[in-house]
Order: sequence, then C-alpha cells, then structure tokens
Amino acid sequence: MPFEKLKHPLWVTGKPYYDLKSYYRNHFDERVYKVQVDAGFTCPNRDGSRGWGGCSYCDGRGSQLRQQGPLPSITKQLEVGKQLYKRLRKATRFVAYFQTFTNTYGEFARLKQLYEEALSVDEIVGLSVGTRPDSITPEIVDLLAGFSSKYDVWIEYGLQSMHDESLKRINRGHSRAEFERAVEMLSGSGIKLCVHAIIGLPWESREMVFQTADFVASLPIDGIKIHSLLLLKGTPLYSDFLAQPFSLLSRAEYVSRVAGFLERLSPEVVIQRLTAEGYRDIFVGPDWARNKLQVLQHLDHYQKEHDSYQGKIWSD
Ligand code: SF4
Repeated sequence: MPFEKLKHPLWVTGKPYYDLKSYYRNHFDERVYKVQVDAGFTCPNRDGSRGWGGCSYCDGRGSQLRQQGPLPSITKQLEVGKQLYKRLRKATRFVAYFQTFTNTYGEFARLKQLYEEALSVDEIVGLSVGTRPDSITPEIVDLLAGFSSKYDVWIEYGLQSMHDESLKRINRGHSRAEFERAVEMLSGSGIKLCVHAIIGLPWESREMVFQTADFVASLPIDGIKIHSLLLLKGTPLYSDFLAQPFSLLSRAEYVSRVAGFLERLSPEVVIQRLTAEGYRDIFVGPDWARNKLQVLQHLDHYQKEHDSYQGKIWSD
C-alpha cells in the first residue's frame, strides 16, 4: 500500500518516519531543541573498571569544549547553547542532553546535583542522559523517574549491535544480556528509552543489521539513534584498518540498510538520528558520511522509490 495512505498521524513533519521534530511538536507547543552538555564524566570502558581502551571506533576525546580546557558549569553551557539555538533555530524551549562519555558513571550525590542543576535552568523542559547498559542502577532510575512527572526524561543506552560476537569485536565491554537487564530496569519508571545502533560494522551482513532492528523493535523502546560507522584516526579500529584494510559501506548500501531498519520499527518509535557526523580533523571514512544532508536526501529518495517507511514490516 502506498506510503501516503499509511502516513501515521504522529509524523507531523511529513517524513516517512517519526522524526524528533514531530515528537517535540506533538509534546510541546514550542520549538524545542536539545542542548548538549559535557559534565566531565569518564567511561568505565576506558578507565579499566569495565575495560581498557574503549570501544574500537571511539576516539576518546570527549566534547570539543573539553579539549579547550576546564569545563564551564552546566548552567553556563546550557545558557550558551540556548542562545545559539534561539538565534539559529528560533527555539524557545530546550532539553539538557548529557552526551559526553557515560553520564551516569559517578557518585550518586554528584549525579543528582548535576541533573537538578540542569533542570533548574530557565526554559529547560527535559533531560536526556546518555549512558551504557552496565552503568545504570535502580537508585539512578528512581532519581530520573522522579523528574519525569514534570519533565520529558530520556535515557539513551548504547547497544550498537544485538550480536554478542560484534559487541566483543568492537570491545563494548558489555553483553546483549546486560542491555536487556538495563531495559528491564526502566520498566514502569516513566523514563523514555532511546537506543543507539551502528550500521556499517565490516563483518555485519544486512541480515545481521536487520536482526538488531527486530531485536530492539521487540523491546519497549521509545526512540532510536542510528549511526554510520566512522573510521577515525587514533582509534583501535583505524589501527586494525591500517594493519588489514577492510571495505566500508557505500552510501547506497547504508541508506538501504537504514530504510530496512526503519521498516522493522514501530511507527511510534522516535527516530532521533539517522547518521553520524562531526570529527572533521580525524575523519578517515567513509567519504560520503562527511555530508549528513546528502545522506538524508538519499534516504528520502530511496524511501520514495521503494515505498519504504517506518513500520512497513513491523509486527506487534
Ligand atoms: S562506551 Fe561510549 S565513551 Fe565509552 S568507549 Fe564506548 S563509545 Fe567511547
């Protein structure tokens, strides 16, 4: 059946998927943008508590802000980000996005103080906390759940692949079973869950990627971020590449895998990202990933041409 006839009422921006803009329009009467903050966290997969060296694709530098010297306070970071999005996007409300490294990896009292500081900033309507499935506790879930009656509260778990073999090869330092337990921990909490997945691991076939899509679709998730695998200088993956070059996905193959991934998800899962970006100074490939806009345009064409849309083959 043609997409137009099946367009979901939640998809108010006209995309053939539930984009973040639509989600914010549906939940707020204002223009909402996520403002990234760096609270100075580290990562248990880098400091030895879960693993050393980090995930094989991770450059380990943290935010650009961190590279410039001592971090400004969370309030200051949010105020600067707010002004930027007000000017560039005419935004009027904001979500504090704790993005850099593992944002639940710290003393409970410090976490509480940081999240509360973010939520006390004017015009902040939500909180989004990026973390690892092995770095969440019932106490932290309770803390975040306490905010969710008044704010839009999300946790973002990095999964990347449902295949334990892939998780080992990229040195994630956690298993699929740990991810499942972390998802279970959020059950009934009121916190929304966004999952990160990577498309482009050189050994993963289309089928393996779609198995990850089916797996996450079978769980109570609210959002997804799909990243293209980027090859970055200074990472273990890049050393592997230099030792034994492997091919990276073409844009056409990436786009068709993204479209297939979306087809397997519920139409009510919010699509928060469809490709990776940034890292200009250490970027190696794939070349097409430098241009996010073009990737999205290709996806658009592909979806029109193939009558592909989110939820097309999703089964409840
Ligand atoms: S969990 Fe995140 S921050 Fe830690 S090594 Fe992996 S990608 Fe980097």
